[in-house]
Amino acid sequence: MPTPVEALRTHLAPIEDLKAAAAVLTWDQETNMPEGGAGARAQQLSTLQSAAHERFVAEETGELLDRAAEALDAPAPLDPDAALVRVTRRDYERAVRVPSSLVAELSKATSQAQQAWKQARAHDDFSRFAPHLERLVDLSVEKAEAIGYEDEPYDALLAEYEPGRTTAEVESLFDTLRDDLVPLVDAIDDASQVDNAILRGTYPQSAQQEFGRAVIEDFGYDFDRGRQDVSAHPFTTAFSPNDVRLTTRYDEKNVASALFSTIHEAGHGLYEQGIDPALDRTPLGEAASLSIHESQARLWENHVSRSRPFWRQYLPQLRETFPNALGDADLEPFYRAINRVEPSLIRVEADEVTYNLHVMLRFELERGLIDGSVSVNKLPERWNAAMDEYLGVVPETDAKGVLQDVHWSQGAFGYFPTYTLGTLTAAQLIETIQDDLSELTKQVADGRFGPLLDWLRTHIHQHGRILEAPDLLDRATGASLSTAPWLRYVRDKFGALYDLSKPRERDRP
Ligand code: ZN
Repeated sequence: MPTPVEALRTHLAPIEDLKAAAAVLTWDQETNMPEGGAGARAQQLSTLQSAAHERFVAEETGELLDRAAEALDAPAPLDPDAALVRVTRRDYERAVRVPSSLVAELSKATSQAQQAWKQARAHDDFSRFAPHLERLVDLSVEKAEAIGYEDEPYDALLAEYEPGRTTAEVESLFDTLRDDLVPLVDAIDDASQVDNAILRGTYPQSAQQEFGRAVIEDFGYDFDRGRQDVSAHPFTTAFSPNDVRLTTRYDEKNVASALFSTIHEAGHGLYEQGIDPALDRTPLGEAASLSIHESQARLWENHVSRSRPFWRQYLPQLRETFPNALGDADLEPFYRAINRVEPSLIRVEADEVTYNLHVMLRFELERGLIDGSVSVNKLPERWNAAMDEYLGVVPETDAKGVLQDVHWSQGAFGYFPTYTLGTLTAAQLIETIQDDLSELTKQVADGRFGPLLDWLRTHIHQHGRILEAPDLLDRATGASLSTAPWLRYVRDKFGALYDLSKPRERDRP
């Protein structure tokens, strides 16, 4: 007789297989599929996803969970059996609370909204998207009501991506951040701008690809258990820790674009490759949350690869790879160019400082949509006003403003804040890592990343979803999430880069 936990595991494994198979199809859709395949692919995905959903919300899952819970003794916090029951119970309760009629309506409304959003963006016409967005907001509120929440409906939506965190907590972190960040961006804007002409030139795609691969292999990304392909929007997906796919896109006129996107995605990929294989084919074999996922990408991208020590090692190699464009590039102007800060309109092109203001603006607006304080028809106006207030730039078109991101057309409310939570998490982790690894700077300058990767494997990657993000971070750094480490990092780095006089405000404790 299998134990109750084994029986639960056996029941869940094929559900995870169905989800992984759907992920393979999605990966293929974004990388290889001819356009003509879209109709058939949508049906195939829908079949696999509903098969997984139906098996998961079946009464059998609830019964197996009850039996497994009864059989557990008082568990240790890191006990994988107890975590399996806890995490599966949470997923199960969320899933069964949403009626299948609502799931179907959301899925239909989302696919219509995405078509409308593409059209609206192409024609710079928000009114084509507005009724669809309104419908998605209504359905999302209905979903939040079905799931339940403590303070406000947005809590229930946020918890999908960031279990263990509340809207109020995000608001408080973002308020602190905004108060310090807006004046910092203003001060940078007033300082003399860094020249980044050095990055422009001609960089053949194949050479960029080879260089990027070599760098992420040095980090420890394992190409025997992973691939890298090209897609319109870079992303990472995993079907198991032994099969992790990265994508990137190339700009032959700018060497920084694909390189940092490759490094960013590799940060996500290293996390996926580092999850304990024993958790595979269970709901625990995934990232703890989106912010933890994003923290891994930001850590490798910003803290490691936009640093001077890193380029001491890699600039000579980059110069050799692109002798025409970069043959005489010096470290200092190159370092400054890749760290240029400039308020701009498009989130995905923003630098690491202003990026967070783009995120805060979206968080405020989508929270307002969900609690009813922002109406869809006022959204473009509110968007532009917030851009002006936070970044001092206003888009001339909605295509470059409120219509730029895909998230809302996918009904993904609650997703945006995870980008900035990830940024804060990365800075908090790296402060702890610098304390633990006194040789880190030298190791990075030597291109030796093993100790850093080992630290991340031990404290973050291997645990999958065994710990919720707040608990995971607490155990890794000894503190709960704070804005202070990131603010210290940007003030030090960009204060020096832009020669800013003493910061106007000190860290809050
Ligand atoms: Zn990312």
